[in-house]
Amino acid sequence: EGLVKTYQSLFGKPRVALDRLDMVVAQGEIHGFLGPNGSGKSTALKTLLGLLRPDAGTMRILGRPVPRALPAVASRVGAIVEAPAFFGNFTAYKTLALLAKAGGVPKHRIGVVLDHVGLTDRAEDQVKSYSLGMRQRLAVASALLKDPELLILDEPNNGLDPAGIREMRDLLREQADRGMTIVISSHILAEIQQVCDSVTIISRGRTVAAGPVSEVLAVADRGTYRVRVDDHH
Ligand code: ATP
Ligand code: MG
Repeated sequence: EGLVKTYQSLFGKPRVALDRLDMVVAQGEIHGFLGPNGSGKSTALKTLLGLLRPDAGTMRILGRPVPRALPAVASRVGAIVEAPAFFGNFTAYKTLALLAKAGGVPKHRIGVVLDHVGLTDRAEDQVKSYSLGMRQRLAVASALLKDPELLILDEPNNGLDPAGIREMRDLLREQADRGMTIVISSHILAEIQQVCDSVTIISRGRTVAAGPVSEVLAVADRGTYRVRVDDHH
């Protein structure tokens, strides 16, 4: 609520990345965070996860205040906020095994998440042999290890082809059907429309519309946003 974040710079002017952003995600829904490049999506998600300190505003995650409650809820939240780097010489299995060990996650979860993201067949291949789409799915697998209640994915479809996007959509749907709350960011309206229940649209660091996808989004020609903005905005 009212989130403000300004990036300071040694040279040039400070850059206002979040300008009183509001976003509410209800439990159990897949929520889209939609906005063009540079609108502040990654900044907002990093701030929510305690990786950046906001200048103003209040945040709650799983109903508890951020950043104070973050250590307490860490095991209940899975997130990817930046394209994660993997060791190319490790297999997917070994990558997840190390993360599981570091996070105190039982070993049987590795097989479960590999299955969830469709990488079981390739689990013993080195990650350097993986396509971009497979790396994205491995990243999602790592975020799923803890079996989180809340999954936050910054641009999970980045670089994926239509088949890859369909796979990602089905995978997220399955997790949502199991009761997980999911937030995904994207700059592509169709991706949000196809998988999300509700959406927040951000522009220049500010919420310009929010609500159920069916009410907020309608496809206009050439993919531009046509948005119904409620009276109180
Ligand atoms: P994209 O769709 O390209 O991922 P985004 O919506 O995630 O964009 P942000 O990465 O949050 O947008 O960037 C919001 C604004 O903040 C942009 O103007 C960007 O240039 C600026 N910004 C982001 N990170 C920094 C930084 N570390 N230092 C200075 N400015 C930054
Ligand atoms: Mg971003």
